[in-house]
Amino acid sequence: MSVPLLDLTAQYASIRDELDEAVAKVVESQYFVLGPEVEAFEAEMAEYLGVKHAVGCASGTDALLLPLMALEAEPCSDVIVPSFTFFATAGAVWNAGHRPVFCDVDPETFNVTAETLEAAWTDRTVAVVPVHLFGQMAPMDEIMELARDRGAFVLEDAAQAIGADSPDGSAGTVGDVGALSFFPTKNLGGFGDGGMMVTDDDAWAQKLGKLRVHGGRQMYHHEMVGTNSRLDALQAAVLRVKLRHLDDWAAQRGENACAYHGLLSGVDGVELPVARDGVRHVYNQYTLKADRRDELREFLAGEGIGSGVYYPVPLHRQACFESLGYQQGDLPGTEALCDRVISLPIFPELGGERLEQVADAIRRFYGEPASE
Ligand SMILES: *Cc1c(COP(=O)(O)O)cnc(C)c1O
Repeated sequence: MSVPLLDLTAQYASIRDELDEAVAKVVESQYFVLGPEVEAFEAEMAEYLGVKHAVGCASGTDALLLPLMALEAEPCSDVIVPSFTFFATAGAVWNAGHRPVFCDVDPETFNVTAETLEAAWTDRTVAVVPVHLFGQMAPMDEIMELARDRGAFVLEDAAQAIGADSPDGSAGTVGDVGALSFFPTKNLGGFGDGGMMVTDDDAWAQKLGKLRVHGGRQMYHHEMVGTNSRLDALQAAVLRVKLRHLDDWAAQRGENACAYHGLLSGVDGVELPVARDGVRHVYNQYTLKADRRDELREFLAGEGIGSGVYYPVPLHRQACFESLGYQQGDLPGTEALCDRVISLPIFPELGGERLEQVADAIRRFYGEPASE
C-alpha cells in the first residue's frame, strides 16, 4: 500500500455533503469577496481562539506582511526571525521594507526561544516574529518578557499551529498580532489561499482591516497605502465547515504522533520530536532528526512512502538574502537541522495500518526488527 505524505481527498470525502452545501450557498448568493460569510467566519475564529478580533486576508504570507506594514516603523529597521522556517516569515519582513535578522532555534523543539532571539538582537530591532513550527508553540512567556522589556513588537507566525495551546494562551493570541494560514496543507486548509490576522487590540484590528482593502474604510478614501488582500467568501464557507472538525483532526494527529513514538522509540539513528510539557502540539508535521536522512528518504520512496524535508536550506543561506552577509556556520543549530530533518505522513485519516507500515520501513532501514 502506498502512503502519501498528505492526502486531502480522504478528508474531503468524509465531509463532502457539508462542504458542497456550503459552497453551493455562496455560489447561489453571488457574493464572493469579504461580506457576510467572511464576517461569520471571522467571528467564529475569534471565538474559537479566544481573541477579540480576527481579520481575514488573502494568505498567511499577507497575514505576516500587513502587520509589518501597519507597524509603520522606520524603513530598514531590523526584525528578528528564525532561519529555520518557511520562506514567507522572512519574505514578509523584506517586502515590508525591513531587514530580516536571522536567529537560531532550539534543536529539540525547532522553535526560537528568548535566548536565541536575544543572541540576534541589534539596536535597530523593532519587532520579532516567533514561529510555532510544525504545530508546537514557541515559549511565548519568556519571549514576551524579553520583547516587552526591549519595546519590540511581537508578531506570532502561527501558520502551522492553529489550535495549538500552552499555559500562555493559544497560538497567535499571545503576541501583539498573530498570523494564520489556510493554505490547503495547513491543519485548517481551504480550497485555495487564505489567511487571517488575530489580535486583542481594537486599534490594530481597525488598521489591519483597512490595509487589506487599500488603506481605507470608506471606498475611494485612503488614509494609508494598503493592498488588495481580501478573503474570499468561498474560502470562508469551506473553512467554517472545517473549523467544526478541527479539534477532532488535531486529536487524530496527536494520536498518530503518539503511535509513531511507540513504534520508533529506541531506534538507533533517529531522534523523535519532543513536545514541551503542558503544551498542546497540533502536529502539522511530524518531524524526525535522522542519520543518513537522504538515503532514508530514498528508501522510503522505494517502499511507496512519501516524506518531506522542511527545510533543506536555512533562510540565512538563501541566494536572495546574500546581500545580508551571512556565512555558513553563523547559525550552526539551524544548519545541522537542515541536514537531518525528515517529516513523515501524519494527516488525520492516515490510519493505524499505514502508520505501522511507515514505522516498520524506518525500523528496517536502521536494521531494527519489525515492531510487534
Ligand atoms: C505556510 C506558512 C506561511 C505562509 O502561508 P501562506 O498561506 O502559504 O502564504 C508562513 N509561515 C509559515 C511558518 C508557514 O508554514
